[in-house]
Amino acid sequence: MEDSYRHQGMRKKLVDTIRKKGICDERVLEVIGSIPRHFFLDSSFLEFAYEDKPFPIGSGQTISQPYTVAFQTELLQVKKGDKILEIGTGSGYQACVLEALGAKVFSVERQKRLYDKTKEFLRELGYHIKVFYGDGNKGLPTYGPFDKILITAAAPNLHENLIDQLKPGGTIVVPLGHGAVQTMMRYTKQLTGELTAESFGAFRFVPLLGDKAND
Ligand code: SAH
Repeated sequence: MEDSYRHQGMRKKLVDTIRKKGICDERVLEVIGSIPRHFFLDSSFLEFAYEDKPFPIGSGQTISQPYTVAFQTELLQVKKGDKILEIGTGSGYQACVLEALGAKVFSVERQKRLYDKTKEFLRELGYHIKVFYGDGNKGLPTYGPFDKILITAAAPNLHENLIDQLKPGGTIVVPLGHGAVQTMMRYTKQLTGELTAESFGAFRFVPLLGDKAND
């Protein structure tokens, strides 16, 4: 896989685009500018890699729009050394963004084919993301508690397991809702264990699959 000057130029334009749309965390912009998003798409779709659009990655799933990746990442306020649980590995792009910001990333994918493909691919790229196959709603009890949890599929509700696996002071970013459009929410766990909620507008994600999803 090659990251040419042409790719780098397209990426620079993409960074300008998402900056204009309101992303202002320079560290997030720098990481979006440095990770070759075209590696995460089939090579025949290269010209789509640097448009600010979601794109199909197989198994009926999509790689999120760069603006959305940047928006969720900005909300997470990633610090070096943060232990982060991502639900919905998909292409692995978002997980790489988190690792590039210095986080230790644990990511769960519900679809076996995507899991197999992405796990191997991330290893080849040299990332240290720990990828798991299963229902992310259950979290990863043996690896928690986490500083942060990021859900990258539309969640009708927030599972108690995930709240339990969040450290006091930790945050969960999740597109919450039943329908085609969700509300981006950020929950912060207080030292008392209570959650406070903030909302950040409308987004569209593919739905979170339940326990009995077909692979
Ligand atoms: N973060 C991804 C985009 C995710 S799209 C990226 O950067 O490319 C949403 C992903 O969530 C899909 O891959 C889908 O298969 C996965 N998913 C859906 N339900 C899930 C569940 N219950 N647990 C874990 N992953 C799930």
